[in-house]
Amino acid sequence: MRILIIEDEAKTAAFLRQGLSETGFTVEVASEGDEGLQLALGTENDLLILDVMLPGRDGWSILEALRAGGKHTPVLMLTARDAIEDKVKGLELGADDYLVKPFAFSELLARVRTILRRGPVRQDTILTVADLQLDLPRRRASRAGTVLDLTAKEFALLELLVRRRGEPLSKTLIAEQVWDIHFHSDPNVVEVAIRRLRSKVDDPFASKLIHTVRGVGYVFEYRAE
Ligand code: CA
Repeated sequence: MRILIIEDEAKTAAFLRQGLSETGFTVEVASEGDEGLQLALGTENDLLILDVMLPGRDGWSILEALRAGGKHTPVLMLTARDAIEDKVKGLELGADDYLVKPFAFSELLARVRTILRRGPVRQDTILTVADLQLDLPRRRASRAGTVLDLTAKEFALLELLVRRRGEPLSKTLIAEQVWDIHFHSDPNVVEVAIRRLRSKVDDPFASKLIHTVRGVGYVFEYRAE
């Protein structure tokens, strides 16, 4: 199994290289961001250990570029900062796990093994329907090249509709999936949210993608004129 380590601190990199090599992994180390990204894109690795603070290009930017480039190599992020926002950011960008420095090698090894057992995440990073594109790692939607200004919930709602395109979805199902409401869900919540979403996704454009299915809910699909 091949592991690429992108880490600028020589001591940490040496300690990881030695420990992982002794455990039986083939290890390569990059100490600079741009070089690290080139290696991550250009070689097949089973795992990437990625430091956040790097010279050149930082770990966030490497992770984003990697996922945008369609590379699903599992990523374990390393950081010195124990900020919850960092963890959320890393996981949203498509990191598989997160380890705060300093850490014991045994802890790192346990995380590495867990990630490798899971295997690579074979998830689409970009969903496309007609001229609509959803960039999942960046949580960004666009139509005909125009970026849509969506809230996090609106993006989640759109993602659900797009993932299940062509399938009529009930308001109950939408409420459960997007708002995690399981009981007494108020259909108004969904109606209002769909109206807002349509005003951004459909109203400014000629072809409509969100359609009402009477007595059921909504379906997302492209209908040729
Ligand atoms: Ca660093």
